[in-house]
Amino acid sequence: MVVMTPEATEAEIAAVKRRLEATGVHVLVLPGELTTAIGAIGDPEGVRELGLEGMEGVDRVVPISRPYKLASSELAHPEPTTFSVAGHRVGGGTTFCLIAGPCTVETREQTLAVARTVKAAGASMLRGGAYKPRTSPFAFKGLGAAALEILAEARAETGLPVVTELLDTQHAEGVAAHADVIQIGARNMQNYALLEVAGKLGKPVLLKRGLSSSLDELLMAADYVLKEGNPRVMVCERGIRTFETATRFTLDLSAIPWLKLHSHLPVIVDPSHASGDRRLVEPLARAAAAVGADGIIVEVHENPEAALCDGPQALYARDFAGFAERVTAHARLEGRTLA
Ligand code: PEP
Ligand code: MN
Repeated sequence: MVVMTPEATEAEIAAVKRRLEATGVHVLVLPGELTTAIGAIGDPEGVRELGLEGMEGVDRVVPISRPYKLASSELAHPEPTTFSVAGHRVGGGTTFCLIAGPCTVETREQTLAVARTVKAAGASMLRGGAYKPRTSPFAFKGLGAAALEILAEARAETGLPVVTELLDTQHAEGVAAHADVIQIGARNMQNYALLEVAGKLGKPVLLKRGLSSSLDELLMAADYVLKEGNPRVMVCERGIRTFETATRFTLDLSAIPWLKLHSHLPVIVDPSHASGDRRLVEPLARAAAAVGADGIIVEVHENPEAALCDGPQALYARDFAGFAERVTAHARLEGRTLA
């Protein structure tokens, strides 16, 4: 919708109309009391590229259609996306995915121990970082390729599919060879070259919301992966930056039903990174189930005090079975069983 200024002349209105018609969109001139609005029905991208804001007599251009396309449930995709990760159903509204594991792979023993614990408690997938995005370049950055081998061993032993982060395009081949789900971290949500590479790897993608990204931006980032022909994308709410500093980030619970309304993609919640405090992880996990999440991703460690990364938010491995049982009970109230 192009809104003209109150002073716009007939000639200026006609010029905008001609410009729009030249792109093949259907044009509707709507004269009002004070201003004239011009409706353009058709390809919004083509209209955006015309740069109509710069034309004489134009006050503003108001997009009516949503900026994300492939991730939108609006037109082409009313049904929820659902797919299987090694037999575990993601999306579709009847299952709840429990993804658990250490923040980062530290040693073989640590990773295998946690993998066995979460498997025994009914987890759907194992998480674990090999390449870690760290705020300080001097912090532990992960074991890299050696960690991928350890994760592969954990999968071979437990049968759990592995979720691990792709931090950089240069690691794409190695990560794709070992991961069942490629995680794109919050800090890379708008790394468009990385998103395109992730879209080409032929593996499901867990796309985390940027810490200062809007939901529109999250779904447009998902479009980058989807447009590479990869339909298996799940989006993840992991907390955003707000004025509140009591928690590490602020878990945006309204994001979950909003995403369910506007997108067909499965929605996963990360209460560990959102809160930064293990005492808050269970209530937030239960809340995630209550507002319709398709699953959660949580950090677990045998000895969080000694963890090399994110210890304060890691659940004690010894507490995980009880945690899983209580959260699963909440998911069941929403008609979901463990994937
Ligand atoms: C993680 O999952 O370990 C992680 C670094 O998460 P985020 O990208 O959401 O900070
Ligand atoms: Mn972490």
